[in-house]
Amino acid sequence: MKSDNEKIVNKFVIQTKRRKFTFVPNRRKSIILAEETNLEAVDELLREVKNRGAAYSLIDAGEKKEIADLFARQKIGTYLYLAGTPQRIKEWTAMAVKAGFTEEEMQIVCYGAEEQRLFCAHCHHIQTIGKEDAVQCAHCGMQLEVSSHYSRLHDAYYGYIQLPCSDGGESR
Ligand SMILES: [Zn+2]
Repeated sequence: MKSDNEKIVNKFVIQTKRRKFTFVPNRRKSIILAEETNLEAVDELLREVKNRGAAYSLIDAGEKKEIADLFARQKIGTYLYLAGTPQRIKEWTAMAVKAGFTEEEMQIVCYGAEEQRLFCAHCHHIQTIGKEDAVQCAHCGMQLEVSSHYSRLHDAYYGYIQLPCSDGGESR
């Protein structure tokens, strides 16, 4: 049985293909939780945070228990930046939600996703793909462009039909 927390988490973890953080000013404190701290997204955010003299903590991914405690200790006004693989992000967001954080109080950069679901705009077939920008629909054969539009209904990204391009050159 899925808990409500899990439902909330599943709803918003995958809705973004964010590659970078956008610093949110005027928060009491920023917590940057990163599975690897040498990520470009984390570096950039750190520079921004330091430039502005904002209060922050940079946390390496540690024990689940420690992170749950950390979340639980936070006062209202703390903002979370989470960077990790899908598995970690799921764990962390579940803990954050449990500790009372909302979707508006966190940003997620998810990396290393091995696969994602793609919804064919032509025939509505859903297939699993890797990191390709364009693929052929396994069902109708249409050439699809992988968009960043995520459908909660289908739990998949939309694949938009690409206009045929005979010579493989620029189509735009
Ligand atoms: Zn199709």
